[in-house]
Amino acid sequence: MSINEGFTCPACRKQLQTVRIRGIELEACTDGCGGIWFDAAELFRLDEPEEGEGDPVLDKLLALPRQGAAGPSGEKRLCIKCGAKMKNHEHREGSGIFIDECYVCGGIWLDGGELKAIRENPVVRQSNEERTRMARDFSQKVQDEKKRLEEAAKRPFRKPGR
Ligand SMILES: [Zn+2]
Ligand SMILES: [Zn+2]
Repeated sequence: MSINEGFTCPACRKQLQTVRIRGIELEACTDGCGGIWFDAAELFRLDEPEEGEGDPVLDKLLALPRQGAAGPSGEKRLCIKCGAKMKNHEHREGSGIFIDECYVCGGIWLDGGELKAIRENPVVRQSNEERTRMARDFSQKVQDEKKRLEEAAKRPFRKPGR
């Protein structure tokens, strides 16, 4: 008979608090290690230095010291949402920042200080820019193809074989 007890920090076992930054609901270890839980795709809305700038909750989290050593943790943590074993892997090749990701639900756990490290990391920044450019190029290609098809459809229809 338990009421909603929320989530337990996968790093220090304290109770996680629900916080809101830029309208995104996150679970953060505000009373403990400063770690933050992101649901799938939420991290991309806060991984640039200017995103959420000046947000008091974010500022508080960013001010917390970096926990643990840089590099792979070697620790197997469980996803707070679905209980699967998370994978500790490098966030963007060459960044030197290792994060825990759940490959089942797409959630990401960042240790205390890692969000700040990600936001300030030049490799992450460059990789984000590349991704944005690729996405733009792709949507341009889709637009071009759509236009081409529309124009082809406008041309008078010629019956085959005449
Ligand atoms: Zn914690
Ligand atoms: Zn999960």
